[in-house]
Amino acid sequence: MARVPFEIGYKRALRLRCPLCGEGKLFSGFFRMNERCSHCDFKFEREPGYFLGSSYINYGWTSVSLTIAYILFHVVLDYPNSYVVPPLVGWFVLFPMFFHRYARAFWLTFDCYWDHTGLPNDPPDSGQSS
Ligand SMILES: [Zn+2]
Repeated sequence: MARVPFEIGYKRALRLRCPLCGEGKLFSGFFRMNERCSHCDFKFEREPGYFLGSSYINYGWTSVSLTIAYILFHVVLDYPNSYVVPPLVGWFVLFPMFFHRYARAFWLTFDCYWDHTGLPNDPPDSGQSS
């Protein structure tokens, strides 16, 4: 199978679409992920526990953004901790809930780019849409 170019794969992930064809939606609700692509029938959860890797992406983005915000507001702008910490705690709880769909999409795209095991040989419209 031809490898989907990295930039096209990540554009598809930002749109929460299938990394192989770019057409099928990854999610049918905010937390509900489709089992397969509606366009090319690619099974998104490639093995049991597959999306555990996406939690590392989600944790990384949350931690880095929290650290940057804390340094910016407390160290650079000199706001006291009593003003900075409560909103950042809210960020630490809410951001991963919002970002989990994108973390899964990025994980799936990353994994399909590097590991072709079990991928269909010729997905429809491969590399055509972004
Ligand atoms: Zn697809």
